[in-house]
Amino acid sequence: MSVGEAVIPHDGAQVIDGRAVAARVRAEVAEGVAEFAARHGRPPGLATVLVGEDPASAIYVAGKQKASAQVGIRGFDHRPSADISQDELAALVGELNANPEVSGMIVQLPLPSHLDGTYITGLVDAAKDVDGLTAVSAGLLSLGRPGLAPCTPVGVIELLRSVNAELEGAEVVVVGRSNLFGKPMAQLLLAENATVTVCHSRTRDLREVCLRADILIAAVGRAQMVKGDWVKPGAIVIDVGQTRGADGKILGDVDFEAARERAGAITPVPGGVGPMTIACLLRNTLSAARAQAGE
Ligand code: NAP
Repeated sequence: MSVGEAVIPHDGAQVIDGRAVAARVRAEVAEGVAEFAARHGRPPGLATVLVGEDPASAIYVAGKQKASAQVGIRGFDHRPSADISQDELAALVGELNANPEVSGMIVQLPLPSHLDGTYITGLVDAAKDVDGLTAVSAGLLSLGRPGLAPCTPVGVIELLRSVNAELEGAEVVVVGRSNLFGKPMAQLLLAENATVTVCHSRTRDLREVCLRADILIAAVGRAQMVKGDWVKPGAIVIDVGQTRGADGKILGDVDFEAARERAGAITPVPGGVGPMTIACLLRNTLSAARAQAGE
């Protein structure tokens, strides 16, 4: 799709099916995992470290382990108790760094308050940093050097590719500048030769800036903040936001019904960006295993 062209009158945007794109990525990973296992006599491995019993974290970790098993990645499921000391946890990360069967590692955040999450995640070997969140991974990404990039922005690039978005030279506006999403998203887009504007809570005239975007990416965490008339006709709109509404439903950052009247393509919430994150985590794990095997 060429972006930015006026598409009025308009039958409604193409809705980008993140579940279908994620299923394709998972199928490709499953194939790659089987080939890796045939070459090396063992599958890639993903270690998860869940400290304590935070119920939301337990659900996320279970989802990652289940998805890994489905594509043939071996799981290493570590669940130290909430009173583990910082030194003991650091030692566990060190063991997993040294274990050649562990290709990737995730320390699930947040950690209990007596532990320093930044310090602990910083101990993860960059070669195994499949969340792409350590300072080394962020540095490699910003230098344009090979490394592991964070899963959600990588998933967004994959969704844009799925609609053949022309990234080179495109005006892309990213709303949100977090280390987890907005900043790495901007770096990945720059690597694709897009012209990138990153907005945040102090941006003036946010609507005007958004209206310039051929590709508008919202990652704020404020339900339906991006209105339909912030969308340039024909733009591709990617909604990363996930906020739980009063009725328990997950809401995106974009007013979907209004935005789809003007957009060329748009992701729904749920079923857009969300499914891509775990799919890209699995792909990062396979990439890490290949790199460690010298491939
Ligand atoms: P975050 O760390 O809270 O960052 C939010 C960003 O939004 C900040 O840069 C903030 O600006 C900006 N912001 C806040 N209010 C704003 C306003 N009124 N106008 C413009 N910008 C504003 O959040 P995050 O971790 O990046 O996550 C953002 C959303 O994406 C959340 O809903 C999260 O659940 C979702 N998310 C989903 C996935 C997934 O689908 N798997 C993954 C990651 C995140 P300042 O920097 O100035 O404070």
